[in-house]
Amino acid sequence: MTDTAPGPALGEPRLSLPLCILLTAVLALTGCGEPRPYKETRFMMGTLVEVSVYAPEKAAVQAVSRAFDRMAQLERVAHAGHEDSPLARLRRGEAVVLEGDLARILEAGMAVARASSGAFDPAMGELVDLWGLSMDRPRRPSDGEIGEALARKAGLALPSGACCPGGAPVWMDLGGVAKGYAVDMAVELLVDAGVASGVVNAGGDLRTFGRRPGRGIWKIGIQDPDSPQELAGVLQVGQLSVATSGDYQRYFEEDGVRYHHILDPATGYPARSGLRSVTVLAPDCVTADALATAVFVLGAEKGMKLLEGWPGAEGVLIKEDGTVLLTGGIGDGIRFERAGKGIRDQG
Ligand code: AMP
Ligand code: MG
Repeated sequence: MTDTAPGPALGEPRLSLPLCILLTAVLALTGCGEPRPYKETRFMMGTLVEVSVYAPEKAAVQAVSRAFDRMAQLERVAHAGHEDSPLARLRRGEAVVLEGDLARILEAGMAVARASSGAFDPAMGELVDLWGLSMDRPRRPSDGEIGEALARKAGLALPSGACCPGGAPVWMDLGGVAKGYAVDMAVELLVDAGVASGVVNAGGDLRTFGRRPGRGIWKIGIQDPDSPQELAGVLQVGQLSVATSGDYQRYFEEDGVRYHHILDPATGYPARSGLRSVTVLAPDCVTADALATAVFVLGAEKGMKLLEGWPGAEGVLIKEDGTVLLTGGIGDGIRFERAGKGIRDQG
């Protein structure tokens, strides 16, 4: 395998569901002749999660298993699909104490919601369900259904303190931020367990830690939205988090129209901002995850502004016409090399 060859997970088949879910969105690449990491892959949080670590095998097996357990626990907390999860209880109008992991995920999401003037919106639960995007039952809702859900969302007060007293249903959806948090927590656990270096990759929301043996830096492939089996470019980074939001990751087609999974909170429809893919780099993955979703909704101009003003964040944006936009800090310790044919650079 060469440096820029796709990682083994690239050939994973897409699910044969009406809703196409690309199982890997960004890939951590390994080169030939380098020490091999210990790797394990599981399907969770609606995607393939790969944990790859450099450590003696016995310690690696134990630490990786605990990292997966931690992510499974977070999936139960942050996904409304689990009947007993706080999110499911909020949807039933039950009283819920917001604390621990859930409070931290919501706090990270709310920070990006405020900075993006609501382009990232943790209150999209009813609309996400209406489009069937978190399930394998996608459908195009009627304009009336979307209008009614938008009106209900406008009247919805998201919990602002530790206590959600119950009463009116609260349709929270943390799908745009929870994977990033799970990646952060898995990395924290691996580091605490003494693992020197590795990558946790939850379907493209990933975090590297430590120095990659051999070359020191990590190479991360960004997929070409037109042809996700190929790369649009490769990032070279040190310890960093990277998250990608793209219209090719999860979508369905009806009457020849493609509907993807990132909704514009202002319209209730899949965002049409002129972007096809947004990759955000940030010190932590929960922030990278929420920012990537927000920038996708905001579009190139406002999205670049948000990233340029966010401490420690950088981005690679791919527009519908194939133009690639890079924030100012790329090239400064973080390298980006274009790979795709027809991708034009405006960095
Ligand atoms: P991501 O793939 O991280 O961009 O997140 C997309 C997921 O977040 C969707 O599958 C929904 O669960 C949820 N979502 C969709 N639109 C938004 C939005 N505008 N703000 C916050 N979450 C969203
Ligand atoms: Mg996201």
